[in-house]
Amino acid sequence: MTTPRVAILGAGIMGVSTALFLARRNVHVTIFDQQAEAMRAASRWNEGKIHLGFLYNANSTLSSARQVLPGGLGFQALVEELTGTSIRDHTTSSDDIYLCHRDSVVSPDGMEKYFYDVSRLIREHPDAARYCVDVSDCQVRRLARQALAQVTDSGEIVAGFKIPERSVATQWLADQFAAALKAEQRIETHFNSRVTGVSHRQSAKSSRQWQVNSSVGDFGPYDYVVNALWEGRLHIDHGLGLPLPERWSHRYRQSLFVRTSTPLSHPSVVIATGPFGDIKNYNGRDFYLSWYPTGLRSESHEILPEAPVLDKSDTDKVITEMFDSLEVLLPEVTSIRDNLEQIELAGGWVYAAADGSLADPAATLHSRSGFGVSSSGTYFSVDTGKYSTGPWLARCLADQIKPG
Ligand SMILES: Cc1cc2nc3c(=O)[nH]c(=O)nc-3n(C[C@H](O)[C@H](O)[C@H](O)COP(=O)(O)OP(=O)(O)OC[C@H]3O[C@@H](n4cnc5c(N)ncnc54)[C@H](O)[C@@H]3O)c2cc1C
Repeated sequence: MTTPRVAILGAGIMGVSTALFLARRNVHVTIFDQQAEAMRAASRWNEGKIHLGFLYNANSTLSSARQVLPGGLGFQALVEELTGTSIRDHTTSSDDIYLCHRDSVVSPDGMEKYFYDVSRLIREHPDAARYCVDVSDCQVRRLARQALAQVTDSGEIVAGFKIPERSVATQWLADQFAAALKAEQRIETHFNSRVTGVSHRQSAKSSRQWQVNSSVGDFGPYDYVVNALWEGRLHIDHGLGLPLPERWSHRYRQSLFVRTSTPLSHPSVVIATGPFGDIKNYNGRDFYLSWYPTGLRSESHEILPEAPVLDKSDTDKVITEMFDSLEVLLPEVTSIRDNLEQIELAGGWVYAAADGSLADPAATLHSRSGFGVSSSGTYFSVDTGKYSTGPWLARCLADQIKPG
């Protein structure tokens, strides 16, 4: 039997994980990306929440929680297998605090009920002990008034909860994935190559072989194609005449990636649920900060979103606005601001087969349950859904091409 040849489009967490799984099963893999290196887009510049489903509390059917849960529980083990590196020292070490904002699309009691329902789902899952911390006895605690007052003195926050979710520092992990890809001899890489289409190879005897068309030429033949282009994915699917989802949105979001000069104990906080913000404290000195309304730089419902026009001259204004907005709700943010050693404003696209505004309780954007792999013969197209579901989906996909 000949070794199958697989073209993977996109070198984010989805494409790179799939490439590593397949190459280690002796598949010949070629990976394409428009950037000069792997993991330079959304998979580098995100918050790294390893989802257990708590964030999707406006989707009370639990369908989003059910779909993100297996990827979240398996994330650490899969990533460590793929990169050969422990993520322990780069993962938040205490529970997240979810704060319920006065203008949240879910009431505090609705949130509490949802959190208890998700905790039950987690406890019943056979992989619950494999999460970054053992969550086989997952419990959510509503903060008493005094405990809440230690996090915020703002009247805009009406309740708080302790949630056993963790997050990983994505810049660091991106470097580990990029190094693992480089070290894998069986993977051919084509960087600085913008994929413009995929077609059947005309000269091939079998019409099942594929050619990848790119800004630097045509490549192939390939037995399989995996489209993991994230914001670029629908355009290539559409070119092949494949069906598009009923609705979708592309949002370009920026956040702050900060290192402080001294360790700080600020908790990791999610202000829920709607267009609010987050803070992640990965290790005392590396932080992620976001304020959604300020960081949302572009929104598109086109099949292929146009690259956002980011005016570098307003970087300082965006940074100031993000800090100011967070400080109103979380006064301790001042200590991060006062101890900056490095700061970077960066971002990436968020694709979702959903749309609407986060301020609208009825927006489909509050649910994340339709993602996954679709296929047409030997062509696979992957909506990664979340960063934390990427490695798990990659393994499912690799199993379809070459069972391990
Ligand atoms: C601000 C922000 C916060 C987030 N927070 C979280 C979180 O806490 N937890 C979580 O689970 N998820 C989070 N996400 C979502 C997460 O980042 C994505 O779900 C995930 O990174 C998608 O991975 P991917 O490999 O599919 O896409 P990407 O990492 O974007 O990889 C796709 C690759 O395809 C390349 N590409 C695109 N079009 C073309 C083309 N035509 N030709 C060649 N190359 C092309 C790009 O350069 C890119 O390298 C967040 C996203 C953002 C932006």
